[in-house]
Amino acid sequence: MNLSKPSWNLKLLLSSSLVLGGMVVAPSDLTSKYFDTSQVEAASTYTTTANLNLRKSASTSATVLVTIPSGKAITYLGTYGSWFKVSYGGKTGYVSSQYVKVSTTSTVTTTSSKKYTTTVNLNLRKSASTSATVLVTIPSGKAVTYLGTYGSWYKVSYGGKTGYVSSQYIKVSTTSTTTTSPTKTYMTTANLNLRKSASTSATVLVTIPSGKAVTYLGAYGTWFKVSYGGKTGYVSAQYVKVSTTTTPTTSTGTGRTIVIDPGHGGNDPGAVYGSSYEKVIAFDIAARLASTLSSTYGYNARMTRTNDVYLSLAQRVELTKSYKGSAFVSIHANSSTNTSYHGHEVLVPTGESYTTNPYISASRSLGTAINRELGVRIPTIRNRGVKYQNVYVVGKNSVPATLVEYGFISNSNDRSHLTSTTYRQRMADATASGIHQFMSTYK
Ligand SMILES: [Zn+2]
Repeated sequence: MNLSKPSWNLKLLLSSSLVLGGMVVAPSDLTSKYFDTSQVEAASTYTTTANLNLRKSASTSATVLVTIPSGKAITYLGTYGSWFKVSYGGKTGYVSSQYVKVSTTSTVTTTSSKKYTTTVNLNLRKSASTSATVLVTIPSGKAVTYLGTYGSWYKVSYGGKTGYVSSQYIKVSTTSTTTTSPTKTYMTTANLNLRKSASTSATVLVTIPSGKAVTYLGAYGTWFKVSYGGKTGYVSAQYVKVSTTTTPTTSTGTGRTIVIDPGHGGNDPGAVYGSSYEKVIAFDIAARLASTLSSTYGYNARMTRTNDVYLSLAQRVELTKSYKGSAFVSIHANSSTNTSYHGHEVLVPTGESYTTNPYISASRSLGTAINRELGVRIPTIRNRGVKYQNVYVVGKNSVPATLVEYGFISNSNDRSHLTSTTYRQRMADATASGIHQFMSTYK
Protein backbone atom coordinates (compact mmCIF):
# COMPACT_ATOMS: atom_id res chain seq x y z
CA MET A 1 0.00 0.00 0.00
CA ASN A 2 1.25 3.46 -0.82
CA LEU A 3 1.20 5.24 2.49
CA SER A 4 1.83 8.63 0.96
CA LYS A 5 -1.88 8.78 0.17
CA PRO A 6 -4.61 7.62 2.52
CA SER A 7 -6.23 4.48 1.14
CA TRP A 8 -9.61 6.09 1.34
CA ASN A 9 -12.03 5.40 -1.44
CA LEU A 10 -15.61 5.69 -2.44
CA LYS A 11 -16.47 2.12 -1.55
CA LEU A 12 -15.10 2.55 1.93
CA LEU A 13 -16.90 5.81 2.53
CA LEU A 14 -20.14 4.13 1.54
CA SER A 15 -19.51 1.13 3.72
CA SER A 16 -18.62 3.22 6.73
CA SER A 17 -21.65 5.42 6.30
CA LEU A 18 -23.98 2.51 5.69
CA VAL A 19 -23.18 1.11 9.10
CA LEU A 20 -24.57 4.31 10.61
CA GLY A 21 -28.02 2.83 10.71
CA GLY A 22 -29.12 3.63 7.22
CA MET A 23 -27.97 7.23 6.99
CA VAL A 24 -27.05 7.95 3.41
CA VAL A 25 -24.25 10.22 2.27
CA ALA A 26 -25.11 11.96 -0.95
CA PRO A 27 -22.69 10.94 -3.72
CA SER A 28 -21.90 14.58 -4.31
CA ASP A 29 -20.29 14.66 -0.87
CA LEU A 30 -17.78 12.00 -1.83
CA THR A 31 -15.24 14.25 -3.44
CA SER A 32 -11.50 14.25 -3.14
CA LYS A 33 -11.54 17.06 -0.62
CA TYR A 34 -12.30 14.46 2.05
CA PHE A 35 -9.16 12.59 1.19
CA ASP A 36 -6.76 14.87 2.99
CA THR A 37 -8.52 16.43 5.90
CA SER A 38 -6.33 15.87 8.92
CA GLN A 39 -6.94 18.83 11.17
CA VAL A 40 -5.11 20.06 14.14
CA GLU A 41 -5.61 22.86 16.59
CA ALA A 42 -3.43 25.90 16.12
CA ALA A 43 -2.24 25.54 19.68
CA SER A 44 -0.58 22.17 19.09
CA THR A 45 3.20 21.94 18.98
CA TYR A 46 5.12 19.09 17.37
CA THR A 47 8.64 18.41 18.54
CA THR A 48 11.12 15.77 17.41
CA THR A 49 12.28 13.39 20.13
CA ALA A 50 15.23 11.99 18.15
CA ASN A 51 17.41 12.95 15.22
CA LEU A 52 14.79 12.30 12.62
CA ASN A 53 14.93 11.82 8.85
CA LEU A 54 12.58 14.00 6.81
CA ARG A 55 11.77 11.85 3.79
CA LYS A 56 10.36 12.60 0.36
CA SER A 57 7.52 10.12 0.88
CA ALA A 58 6.08 8.06 3.72
CA SER A 59 8.46 5.13 3.46
CA THR A 60 11.71 4.20 5.17
CA SER A 61 13.21 3.65 1.73
CA ALA A 62 12.34 7.15 0.45
CA THR A 63 15.01 9.79 -0.13
CA VAL A 64 16.08 11.67 3.01
CA LEU A 65 15.66 15.41 2.46
CA VAL A 66 17.27 16.43 5.74
CA THR A 67 17.89 14.99 9.20
CA ILE A 68 16.03 17.08 11.76
CA PRO A 69 17.89 17.31 15.07
CA SER A 70 16.14 16.05 18.21
CA GLY A 71 14.09 18.63 20.11
CA LYS A 72 13.25 20.78 17.09
CA ALA A 73 9.78 22.18 16.47
CA ILE A 74 8.24 21.11 13.18
CA THR A 75 5.05 22.16 11.40
CA TYR A 76 2.41 19.43 11.24
CA LEU A 77 0.58 19.06 7.92
CA GLY A 78 -1.21 15.72 8.19
CA THR A 79 -1.19 12.09 9.32
CA TYR A 80 -0.53 9.19 6.94
CA GLY A 81 -0.57 5.89 8.75
CA SER A 82 2.39 5.93 11.10
CA TRP A 83 3.87 8.98 9.35
CA PHE A 84 3.38 12.69 9.81
CA LYS A 85 3.64 15.03 6.86
CA VAL A 86 5.54 18.03 8.21
CA SER A 87 7.60 20.97 7.15
CA TYR A 88 10.94 21.96 8.63
CA GLY A 89 13.50 24.51 7.52
CA GLY A 90 11.61 25.27 4.33
CA LYS A 91 11.38 21.59 3.34
CA THR A 92 8.21 19.50 3.30
CA GLY A 93 8.21 15.73 3.72
CA TYR A 94 7.37 12.79 5.97
CA VAL A 95 8.69 11.71 9.35
CA SER A 96 7.92 8.69 11.53
CA SER A 97 5.23 9.90 13.97
CA GLN A 98 6.74 7.69 16.65
CA TYR A 99 9.54 10.20 17.20
CA VAL A 100 7.37 13.28 17.34
CA LYS A 101 5.97 14.53 20.61
CA VAL A 102 2.64 16.30 20.27
CA SER A 103 1.57 18.77 22.90
CA THR A 104 -0.98 21.52 23.09
CA THR A 105 -1.00 24.60 25.22
CA SER A 106 -4.09 23.22 26.90
CA THR A 107 -2.31 19.94 27.59
CA VAL A 108 0.53 21.75 29.25
CA THR A 109 -1.87 23.64 31.47
CA THR A 110 -3.76 20.49 32.32
CA THR A 111 -0.59 18.54 32.95
CA SER A 112 0.59 20.98 35.54
CA SER A 113 -2.40 20.12 37.69
CA LYS A 114 -2.12 16.40 37.03
CA LYS A 115 -0.56 13.93 39.36
CA TYR A 116 1.23 10.80 38.09
CA THR A 117 1.48 7.95 40.55
CA THR A 118 2.83 4.42 40.17
CA THR A 119 0.26 1.70 40.80
CA VAL A 120 2.80 -1.15 41.15
CA ASN A 121 6.51 -1.49 41.84
CA LEU A 122 7.65 -0.15 38.49
CA ASN A 123 10.93 -0.26 36.61
CA LEU A 124 12.34 3.08 35.42
CA ARG A 125 14.25 2.20 32.26
CA LYS A 126 16.96 3.95 30.28
CA SER A 127 14.87 3.85 27.11
CA ALA A 128 11.29 3.00 26.11
CA SER A 129 11.76 -0.75 25.83
CA THR A 130 11.25 -3.69 28.16
CA SER A 131 14.78 -4.80 27.33
CA ALA A 132 16.37 -1.47 28.32
CA THR A 133 18.51 -1.13 31.44
CA VAL A 134 16.56 -0.63 34.66
CA LEU A 135 17.74 2.55 36.38
CA VAL A 136 15.69 2.04 39.51
CA THR A 137 12.51 0.28 40.60
CA ILE A 138 10.02 2.86 41.77
CA PRO A 139 7.86 1.60 44.63
CA SER A 140 4.10 1.44 44.14
CA GLY A 141 2.18 4.58 45.08
CA LYS A 142 5.04 7.00 44.44
CA ALA A 143 4.56 10.28 42.60
CA VAL A 144 6.68 10.74 39.49
CA THR A 145 7.26 13.79 37.31
CA TYR A 146 5.72 13.39 33.86
CA LEU A 147 7.90 14.54 30.96
CA GLY A 148 6.19 13.10 27.88
CA THR A 149 4.40 10.20 26.20
CA TYR A 150 6.15 7.82 23.82
CA GLY A 151 3.78 5.18 22.54
CA SER A 152 2.82 3.11 25.57
CA TRP A 153 5.64 4.61 27.66
CA TYR A 154 5.88 7.71 29.79
CA LYS A 155 9.14 9.58 30.15
CA VAL A 156 9.30 10.54 33.80
CA SER A 157 11.73 11.59 36.46
CA TYR A 158 11.92 10.10 39.93
CA GLY A 159 14.49 10.52 42.67
CA GLY A 160 16.79 12.56 40.45
CA LYS A 161 16.76 9.94 37.66
CA THR A 162 15.07 10.36 34.28
CA GLY A 163 13.84 7.44 32.21
CA TYR A 164 10.86 5.56 30.86
CA VAL A 165 8.08 3.61 32.55
CA SER A 166 5.17 1.62 31.18
CA SER A 167 2.22 4.07 31.14
CA GLN A 168 -0.07 1.18 32.01
CA TYR A 169 1.03 1.25 35.62
CA ILE A 170 0.80 4.98 36.11
CA LYS A 171 -2.34 6.49 37.53
CA VAL A 172 -3.03 9.99 36.28
CA SER A 173 -5.28 12.04 38.48
CA THR A 174 -6.43 15.59 38.02
CA THR A 175 -6.62 16.44 41.68
CA SER A 176 -6.21 20.16 41.81
CA THR A 177 -5.78 20.40 45.55
CA THR A 178 -2.77 19.36 47.55
CA THR A 179 -3.46 15.99 49.01
CA THR A 180 -3.40 16.01 52.77
CA SER A 181 -5.56 13.00 53.49
CA PRO A 182 -3.78 9.65 53.37
CA THR A 183 -7.06 7.84 52.77
CA LYS A 184 -7.37 6.36 49.32
CA THR A 185 -10.35 4.93 47.51
CA TYR A 186 -10.06 2.01 45.12
CA MET A 187 -12.67 1.72 42.43
CA THR A 188 -13.15 -0.75 39.58
CA THR A 189 -13.05 0.72 36.08
CA ALA A 190 -14.50 -2.38 34.37
CA ASN A 191 -16.54 -5.43 35.28
CA LEU A 192 -13.76 -7.18 37.12
CA ASN A 193 -13.25 -10.76 38.25
CA LEU A 194 -12.33 -11.24 41.91
CA ARG A 195 -10.15 -14.37 41.92
CA LYS A 196 -9.08 -16.79 44.61
CA SER A 197 -5.41 -16.18 43.84
CA ALA A 198 -3.33 -13.76 41.77
CA SER A 199 -3.63 -15.59 38.45
CA THR A 200 -5.95 -15.33 35.46
CA SER A 201 -6.52 -19.07 35.75
CA ALA A 202 -7.64 -18.91 39.39
CA THR A 203 -11.26 -19.48 40.39
CA VAL A 204 -13.53 -16.44 40.00
CA LEU A 205 -15.23 -15.71 43.33
CA VAL A 206 -17.46 -12.94 41.97
CA THR A 207 -17.48 -10.44 39.12
CA ILE A 208 -17.39 -6.94 40.58
CA PRO A 209 -19.36 -4.43 38.47
CA SER A 210 -17.54 -1.43 37.04
CA GLY A 211 -17.48 1.66 39.24
CA LYS A 212 -17.67 -0.19 42.58
CA ALA A 213 -15.48 0.67 45.55
CA VAL A 214 -13.30 -2.17 46.84
CA THR A 215 -11.20 -2.41 50.00
CA TYR A 216 -7.50 -2.48 49.22
CA LEU A 217 -5.44 -5.04 51.12
CA GLY A 218 -2.14 -5.11 49.22
CA ALA A 219 -0.35 -5.19 45.87
CA TYR A 220 1.10 -8.37 44.36
CA GLY A 221 2.81 -7.69 41.05
CA THR A 222 0.07 -6.57 38.70
CA TRP A 223 -2.64 -7.74 41.11
CA PHE A 224 -4.36 -6.09 44.04
CA LYS A 225 -5.62 -8.10 46.96
CA VAL A 226 -8.99 -6.58 47.80
CA SER A 227 -12.21 -7.35 49.54
CA TYR A 228 -15.65 -6.76 48.09
CA GLY A 229 -19.09 -7.81 49.27
CA GLY A 230 -17.66 -9.89 52.10
CA LYS A 231 -15.30 -11.80 49.80
CA THR A 232 -11.51 -11.44 49.72
CA GLY A 233 -9.43 -12.18 46.63
CA TYR A 234 -7.31 -10.76 43.84
CA VAL A 235 -8.12 -8.44 40.94
CA SER A 236 -6.04 -7.11 38.06
CA ALA A 237 -4.65 -3.79 39.32
CA GLN A 238 -5.00 -2.38 35.84
CA TYR A 239 -8.74 -2.06 36.23
CA VAL A 240 -8.67 -0.44 39.62
CA LYS A 241 -8.52 3.31 39.87
CA VAL A 242 -6.83 4.59 42.98
CA SER A 243 -7.75 8.05 44.11
CA THR A 244 -7.43 10.12 47.19
CA THR A 245 -10.54 11.03 49.13
CA THR A 246 -10.58 14.40 47.42
CA THR A 247 -13.89 14.21 45.62
CA PRO A 248 -14.06 14.40 41.84
CA THR A 249 -15.94 17.66 42.19
CA THR A 250 -12.59 19.44 42.59
CA SER A 251 -11.53 18.40 39.08
CA THR A 252 -12.14 20.55 36.06
CA GLY A 253 -14.86 18.34 34.62
CA THR A 254 -17.30 19.37 37.33
CA GLY A 255 -20.92 19.10 36.57
CA ARG A 256 -20.78 19.13 32.82
CA THR A 257 -22.48 16.32 30.96
CA ILE A 258 -20.77 14.31 28.25
CA VAL A 259 -23.10 12.18 26.14
CA ILE A 260 -21.54 8.90 25.04
CA ASP A 261 -23.34 7.15 22.21
CA PRO A 262 -22.60 3.45 21.70
CA GLY A 263 -23.41 2.88 18.03
CA HIS A 264 -26.15 0.54 16.81
CA GLY A 265 -27.86 -1.92 19.21
CA GLY A 266 -30.83 -4.24 19.33
CA ASN A 267 -31.78 -5.54 15.90
CA ASP A 268 -29.10 -3.30 14.34
CA PRO A 269 -25.79 -5.10 14.99
CA GLY A 270 -23.72 -2.62 12.97
CA ALA A 271 -20.78 -4.26 11.27
CA VAL A 272 -20.41 -8.00 11.79
CA TYR A 273 -17.29 -10.05 11.19
CA GLY A 274 -17.42 -13.67 12.34
CA SER A 275 -18.42 -13.53 15.99
CA SER A 276 -17.40 -9.85 16.34
CA TYR A 277 -20.36 -7.47 16.51
CA GLU A 278 -19.84 -3.74 16.25
CA LYS A 279 -22.73 -3.05 18.65
CA VAL A 280 -21.05 -5.15 21.36
CA ILE A 281 -17.58 -3.68 20.91
CA ALA A 282 -18.98 -0.14 20.78
CA PHE A 283 -21.00 -0.68 23.94
CA ASP A 284 -18.02 -1.99 25.90
CA ILE A 285 -15.73 0.87 24.87
CA ALA A 286 -18.53 3.34 25.62
CA ALA A 287 -19.15 1.89 29.08
CA ARG A 288 -15.43 2.07 29.89
CA LEU A 289 -15.29 5.62 28.55
CA ALA A 290 -18.28 6.74 30.62
CA SER A 291 -16.72 5.20 33.70
CA THR A 292 -13.36 6.93 33.15
CA LEU A 293 -15.01 10.27 32.39
CA SER A 294 -16.94 10.23 35.64
CA SER A 295 -14.46 8.61 37.98
CA THR A 296 -11.19 10.12 36.71
CA TYR A 297 -12.35 13.48 35.40
CA GLY A 298 -15.52 14.22 37.32
CA TYR A 299 -17.88 14.58 34.36
CA ASN A 300 -21.49 13.56 34.40
CA ALA A 301 -21.25 10.86 31.72
CA ARG A 302 -24.52 9.73 30.16
CA MET A 303 -24.91 6.91 27.67
CA THR A 304 -27.62 7.07 25.01
CA ARG A 305 -28.23 3.37 25.54
CA THR A 306 -27.31 1.36 28.62
CA ASN A 307 -28.19 -2.01 27.16
CA ASP A 308 -28.64 -3.76 23.84
CA VAL A 309 -31.55 -1.79 22.40
CA TYR A 310 -32.18 -0.11 19.08
CA LEU A 311 -32.20 3.69 18.98
CA SER A 312 -32.78 5.76 15.87
CA LEU A 313 -30.18 8.39 14.97
CA ALA A 314 -32.76 11.10 15.71
CA GLN A 315 -33.38 9.64 19.17
CA ARG A 316 -29.66 9.81 19.91
CA VAL A 317 -29.61 13.50 19.01
CA GLU A 318 -32.79 14.13 21.04
CA LEU A 319 -31.28 12.40 24.08
CA THR A 320 -28.29 14.76 23.90
CA LYS A 321 -30.73 17.64 24.36
CA SER A 322 -32.73 16.07 27.14
CA TYR A 323 -29.55 15.13 29.01
CA LYS A 324 -28.39 18.76 28.59
CA GLY A 325 -25.12 17.46 27.18
CA SER A 326 -22.11 19.72 26.68
CA ALA A 327 -20.50 17.40 24.14
CA PHE A 328 -21.40 14.23 22.23
CA VAL A 329 -19.15 11.35 21.18
CA SER A 330 -20.46 8.42 19.16
CA ILE A 331 -18.59 5.13 19.42
CA HIS A 332 -18.20 2.85 16.38
CA ALA A 333 -16.00 0.29 14.70
CA ASN A 334 -15.48 0.19 10.96
CA SER A 335 -15.74 -2.64 8.47
CA SER A 336 -14.96 -3.21 4.83
CA THR A 337 -15.12 -6.06 2.34
CA ASN A 338 -11.45 -5.28 1.73
CA THR A 339 -9.76 -6.79 4.79
CA SER A 340 -6.60 -4.77 4.20
CA TYR A 341 -8.34 -1.52 5.20
CA HIS A 342 -7.32 -0.63 8.69
CA GLY A 343 -6.96 2.18 11.16
CA HIS A 344 -8.90 4.46 13.45
CA GLU A 345 -10.36 7.81 12.53
CA VAL A 346 -12.76 10.44 13.75
CA LEU A 347 -15.57 11.99 11.74
CA VAL A 348 -16.35 15.68 12.18
CA PRO A 349 -18.92 17.95 10.52
CA THR A 350 -18.48 19.36 7.04
CA GLY A 351 -19.17 23.00 6.33
CA GLU A 352 -21.97 22.08 3.93
CA SER A 353 -25.66 22.81 4.29
CA TYR A 354 -26.15 19.26 5.61
CA THR A 355 -24.56 20.47 8.84
CA THR A 356 -27.08 22.20 11.08
CA ASN A 357 -24.89 21.80 14.16
CA PRO A 358 -23.77 25.33 15.07
CA TYR A 359 -20.60 23.97 16.69
CA ILE A 360 -18.61 23.05 13.59
CA SER A 361 -15.27 24.37 14.74
CA ALA A 362 -15.66 23.07 18.31
CA SER A 363 -16.70 19.66 16.96
CA ARG A 364 -13.54 19.54 14.88
CA SER A 365 -11.43 20.47 17.91
CA LEU A 366 -13.11 17.74 19.95
CA GLY A 367 -12.51 15.17 17.21
CA THR A 368 -8.92 16.30 16.71
CA ALA A 369 -8.14 16.01 20.42
CA ILE A 370 -9.54 12.47 20.58
CA ASN A 371 -7.76 11.44 17.38
CA ARG A 372 -4.47 12.77 18.66
CA GLU A 373 -4.74 10.88 21.96
CA LEU A 374 -5.65 7.64 20.19
CA GLY A 375 -2.73 8.09 17.80
CA VAL A 376 -0.23 8.69 20.56
CA ARG A 377 -1.51 6.10 23.02
CA ILE A 378 -2.26 3.26 20.59
CA PRO A 379 0.47 3.48 17.94
CA THR A 380 -0.15 -0.13 16.86
CA ILE A 381 -3.34 0.92 15.07
CA ARG A 382 -2.92 3.10 12.01
CA ASN A 383 -4.09 6.68 12.46
CA ARG A 384 -6.32 7.60 9.52
CA GLY A 385 -6.81 11.07 10.93
CA VAL A 386 -9.74 13.47 11.11
CA LYS A 387 -12.31 13.24 8.31
CA TYR A 388 -14.98 15.72 7.32
CA GLN A 389 -18.10 13.69 6.71
CA ASN A 390 -21.86 14.16 6.76
CA VAL A 391 -22.90 11.97 9.67
CA TYR A 392 -26.35 12.43 11.21
CA VAL A 393 -25.50 12.27 14.91
CA VAL A 394 -22.66 14.76 14.37
CA GLY A 395 -24.05 17.12 11.74
CA LYS A 396 -27.58 17.26 13.17
CA ASN A 397 -26.55 17.58 16.80
CA SER A 398 -26.67 20.82 18.75
CA VAL A 399 -23.47 20.48 20.78
CA PRO A 400 -19.81 19.84 19.85
CA ALA A 401 -20.00 16.33 18.41
CA THR A 402 -17.79 13.71 16.81
CA LEU A 403 -17.93 10.06 15.80
CA VAL A 404 -14.99 7.78 16.50
CA GLU A 405 -14.28 4.68 14.40
CA TYR A 406 -11.79 2.74 16.52
CA GLY A 407 -10.65 0.39 13.77
CA PHE A 408 -11.84 -2.16 11.23
CA ILE A 409 -13.26 -5.38 12.64
CA SER A 410 -12.68 -6.81 9.14
CA ASN A 411 -8.90 -6.35 9.50
CA SER A 412 -6.97 -8.85 11.59
CA ASN A 413 -4.62 -6.38 13.27
CA ASP A 414 -7.41 -3.97 14.17
CA ARG A 415 -9.68 -6.83 15.26
CA SER A 416 -7.03 -8.14 17.64
CA HIS A 417 -7.19 -4.74 19.37
CA LEU A 418 -10.97 -4.33 19.23
CA THR A 419 -11.57 -7.73 20.81
CA SER A 420 -9.04 -7.13 23.60
CA THR A 421 -10.37 -5.71 26.86
CA THR A 422 -6.92 -4.24 27.52
CA TYR A 423 -7.04 -2.27 24.29
CA ARG A 424 -10.68 -1.30 24.73
CA GLN A 425 -9.70 0.22 28.04
CA ARG A 426 -6.83 2.08 26.38
CA MET A 427 -9.19 3.30 23.68
CA ALA A 428 -11.58 4.51 26.36
CA ASP A 429 -8.81 6.19 28.35
CA ALA A 430 -7.39 7.89 25.26
CA THR A 431 -10.86 9.12 24.29
CA ALA A 432 -11.54 10.39 27.81
CA SER A 433 -8.25 12.27 27.78
CA GLY A 434 -9.06 13.84 24.41
CA ILE A 435 -12.52 14.85 25.61
CA HIS A 436 -11.05 16.35 28.75
CA GLN A 437 -8.43 18.29 26.78
CA PHE A 438 -11.18 19.71 24.62
CA MET A 439 -13.49 20.47 27.53
CA SER A 440 -10.68 22.20 29.42
CA THR A 441 -10.47 24.79 26.66
CA TYR A 442 -14.19 24.95 25.86
CA LYS A 443 -16.51 26.97 28.05
ZN1 LIG B 1 -21.11 1.94 13.25
